[in-house]
Amino acid sequence: MSKPLKNKVALVTGGSRGIGAAIVRRLAKDGANVAFTYSTSAKAAAAVAREAAGFGVVAKAYRADSAAPKTLPRLVARVLKEFGRIDVLVNNAGVFLGGKIGEIRPADYEHLMRINVDAVFALTNAAVKHMKTGGRIINISSILGERATGPDMGVYNASKFAVTGFRRRWAKDLGARGSLVTAVQPGPIDTDLNPATGAHAEPMRRQTALGRFGRPEEVAAAVAFLAGPAAGYITGA
Ligand code: NDP
Repeated sequence: MSKPLKNKVALVTGGSRGIGAAIVRRLAKDGANVAFTYSTSAKAAAAVAREAAGFGVVAKAYRADSAAPKTLPRLVARVLKEFGRIDVLVNNAGVFLGGKIGEIRPADYEHLMRINVDAVFALTNAAVKHMKTGGRIINISSILGERATGPDMGVYNASKFAVTGFRRRWAKDLGARGSLVTAVQPGPIDTDLNPATGAHAEPMRRQTALGRFGRPEEVAAAVAFLAGPAAGYITGA
């Protein structure tokens, strides 16, 4: 079996469930040693670590709260100490908040921004100087980081648009040192955050070209491509 990420080290945020868990498994399958974070789902995280290690790599879960971005440089230091390097950083952990403007609690806004935006800055800022030429920073943004299509999602839109800004500028700023910055911007993916069943799901399903929600593994396949040797001339995209 081909192992395009053999001897690479990936750090993935929010790897205990959903898209992040699929990314951890896929990067491990492709040969990477994987460090990943979770906030509360310790049991699920341990199960993902076991599955990933089943591919013959080192896989380890770290409890690290993205809502406390100032603590994240310590996580980077720990991963560097225990894994020796970071080649791929996947900023995946994220939360959703809907609601009419005028009725949103400022505390909920601040919580989302800390996880969806501040943590992406804090981790990238701490990790990038340790990444060697060819390093990859891959942000899990959203179609809602390009378009504001649905009603009452302005806070989530703004957080993902911010990540779009990071990618577009950082790709240029980091190009000289050989680091590549990309994003995957999925439409609706069937996870706890956005289940494919229920009344809310139908309008989203109808908006998709394929008439269905995506699966976490389908996002993970795109991340694995962007992390791998075949994507060595892709940045900013
Ligand atoms: P899930 O809710 O299924 O999983 C979220 C993951 O992030 C979990 O592992 C969770 O850990 C972790 N997480 C949440 N809060 C924190 C925190 N404060 N600190 C550390 N980790 C945290 O979400 P998805 O898999 O659906 O979403 C993943 C990413 O994909 C997000 O950035 C989301 O915005 C984006 N996205 C999702 C889409 C979808 O339709 N599902 C579409 C487009 C983008 P724990 O288990 O411990 O809570």
